[in-house]
Amino acid sequence: MNPTDAAWLKRFPELEILITSDTLQARVRALGEQITHDYRDHPPLLVGVLKGSLVFLADLMRAIPLPVAYDFVAISSYGAETHSTGQVRLLKDLDSPIRDRHVLVVEDIYDTGLTLSYLLGQLRQREPASLRVCTLLSKPARRQAEIELAYCGFEIPDRFVVGYGLDYAERYRNLPFIAVLHGQS
Ligand code: 5GP
Repeated sequence: MNPTDAAWLKRFPELEILITSDTLQARVRALGEQITHDYRDHPPLLVGVLKGSLVFLADLMRAIPLPVAYDFVAISSYGAETHSTGQVRLLKDLDSPIRDRHVLVVEDIYDTGLTLSYLLGQLRQREPASLRVCTLLSKPARRQAEIELAYCGFEIPDRFVVGYGLDYAERYRNLPFIAVLHGQS
């Protein structure tokens, strides 16, 4: 663990680190290289899913030296709960049309898959030139809807995680690592 992660942990003793900031940064750089290679002839529109993917998207796009653009959607989330209710709604739509554009959805975590399958269904109707998904984390244990992942940072066990954009009741989004809360599932 690097000294920065250790200093954060001192302030948040309720956390246990699952993925250190160094490991995260190295993986994000590798994903960026892969995406840069795959999209070299047709730079993508990166579509971030608010709010959780903000930190990942910010780091990822700076690891893609291509003329990319980015936009955001917001989808109803779990609120202060740690388990999905299965209800999904679009709260904020894209600013521009995506017809004939190469769209890469950037998501924080693929858990049950309900959010991503709903979002992909919505976006597919708009006839983009291509539509693929890059997720930082995947939790295969609780899958309800299978989707094809073009890029995945890490597979993680069935634990509720926070940090690097992910929250618990709006807290912990600013952690530079991924952690679990002691006492949570
Ligand atoms: P899904 O629809 O795949 O079940 O869940 C996707 C959304 O649920 C994610 O974008 C994220 O907002 C939330 N989520 C799922 N698992 C976790 C988790 O372990 N921690 C946090 N903070 N959010 C999660």
